[in-house]
Amino acid sequence: GQCVAVCPVGALTEKENIWSVVDALVNKNKVVVVQTAPAVRAALGEEFGLEAGSLVTGKMVAALRRLGFDYVFDTDFAADLTIMEEGAELLDRLERYIEGDESVKLPMLTSCCPGWVNFLESQFPDLLDIPSSAKSPQQMFGSIAKSYFAQKLFIPREKMVVVSVMPCLAKKFEASREEFKVKGNPDVDISISTRELAHLIKIANIDFNDLEEEDFDKPLGESTGAAVIFGATGGVIEAATRTVYELFTGKKLEKIDFEELRGIEGIRCASIKINDMDINIGIASGLGNARKLLEEIRSGNPRNLHAIEIMACPGGCIGGGGQPYHHGNIEILKKRADAIYTEDKNKPIRKSHENPYIKEIYQKFLWEPLSEKSHHLLHTSYSPKQKV
Ligand code: SF4
Repeated sequence: GQCVAVCPVGALTEKENIWSVVDALVNKNKVVVVQTAPAVRAALGEEFGLEAGSLVTGKMVAALRRLGFDYVFDTDFAADLTIMEEGAELLDRLERYIEGDESVKLPMLTSCCPGWVNFLESQFPDLLDIPSSAKSPQQMFGSIAKSYFAQKLFIPREKMVVVSVMPCLAKKFEASREEFKVKGNPDVDISISTRELAHLIKIANIDFNDLEEEDFDKPLGESTGAAVIFGATGGVIEAATRTVYELFTGKKLEKIDFEELRGIEGIRCASIKINDMDINIGIASGLGNARKLLEEIRSGNPRNLHAIEIMACPGGCIGGGGQPYHHGNIEILKKRADAIYTEDKNKPIRKSHENPYIKEIYQKFLWEPLSEKSHHLLHTSYSPKQKV
């Protein structure tokens, strides 16, 4: 097909990954769990002739069930978990900074984009103590599925196969990193792209457009509006702001939408007032813009930024390398972003710390953000890599 002509290596990987998923699905000895990233639901429909910006969350869930996954879960659950951990870390750094601790590392950088983490490790080895230590939602999901959820099912982690559907090609590499394995068994076994999922649905002869909408399974399928906006540039930091604001001030957030953090421009900055403090936030999407912002930080942080969100792909994950091709058409990206913010608005709960299943996992399993168990399962560290 088209991909063979454009990118033969990519086509091969694509083929191999699809058939690994099929192998897992037909293996009666395995429990196969799938997680879908926030940006996938805002673009998958395009592969089936639907308009850009069509939200197909319910049809996607139905298709995954038809394909035979035992549990259809949502990376959005893990995005809420990421906010709990990353938000607690930001809160901790800000509180120490206010108390005058000069060793504290600010700005704190978000760490959920492996495209950007790889770039940082090779190009900015002197800045490796700045990112949040929180794992990405894909990896948090895998880690929790193979501990908390496997324990609920009374099965060993080796019996579970975790498949992720991602808008991203860098996620395949992330899933294969040694630090995300336990005794050689990866937290995420197979990562496929949005395009690969579409391919799989077509191979299985499922009439996607005709499917009735269905809901994700519980407990790892429940999420908030804060999680779904991870898919658009600025979304992670907006989600974190919603939670950090309430935890820091103890007050209810009256206006949940932080419009000042949204948009499609490559570099944006905004200030948010939390109590008496102005929190300065920087957002970059696209590696060229990320480099500019990081060079600023290296040269002394002239804008006095406290937190930065960086996404390697222009527009964030909605424009990821595993999404249906958008051929640089910015209108398509805007429509996908609109779909993401619509899903956020339609969610009954829009702040990560209010997700009842997140509350439950802390009560029963993790105890609290940044606990020893959370550190063990949900955090990582970075190391310098050779320039490629
Ligand atoms: Fe992947 Fe791009 Fe999203 Fe980064 S911004 S996680 S590289 S899709």
